[in-house]
Amino acid sequence: MRLIIFGPPGAGKGTYASRLGHELGITVVSTGDIFRQEVRRNTNLGRKAAEFLSSGELVPDQIVTGILAKKIHADDAKHGFILDGYPRTIEQARALDKMVKIDAVIRLTVPERIIVERLSNRRVCKKCGAIFNLKYLKPKEPGVCDNCGGELFQRGDDLPQVIRERLKVYESQTQPLVEYYKDELPILNIKCSSARIPPEIIVREILRKLQKANLLV
Ligand code: AMP
Repeated sequence: MRLIIFGPPGAGKGTYASRLGHELGITVVSTGDIFRQEVRRNTNLGRKAAEFLSSGELVPDQIVTGILAKKIHADDAKHGFILDGYPRTIEQARALDKMVKIDAVIRLTVPERIIVERLSNRRVCKKCGAIFNLKYLKPKEPGVCDNCGGELFQRGDDLPQVIRERLKVYESQTQPLVEYYKDELPILNIKCSSARIPPEIIVREILRKLQKANLLV
């Protein structure tokens, strides 16, 4: 199964993708996570990407697509994958079309007020990448990851001025992908109207929609 999870920053893509990947036994490819890791390791790629990440701009298509191609052809993606954060432009979607056939797009829609609240309260584990929220998905012990005991931190791009820029970039460059995929692939629409809905409820709804679209065997 090859899926795209699509939606604005703060829609919960990472949270739902990791749970869904677990349920379906497929890997999650998050281009944002890949870049953050490269930045942390201060690699060549990390140094190229750092400026884009900290300003909320997109990393150039050629760089992202090269990395994605490697990931989806890797061994752990042979049973399928969920793409989180890719494609983000029409050019990326065209490049993906040439690489592989996607089964469906999971499209998350979330009111802007919830997005801003979610992003500004988001905390991420330094060690395993697990995602928490200071209001709605609190860690058991403040500042400590429930899964691995790692330290929690706030992403540099989860600050108010960068959040605004990321939302602008999403509207202008990524949102048009809905039109691109509309007649090509099943789009499973998932509305998250409240930040209080526990992730497992949303994941269950996604699984139900996958089943209804005959995508679960
Ligand atoms: P995310 O974790 O998906 O919100 O991504 C964080 C940042 O990584 C974005 O704001 C971009 O700077 C960069 N990024 C991640 N995925 C892509 C992509 N597909 N194309 C361009 N830039 C990306």
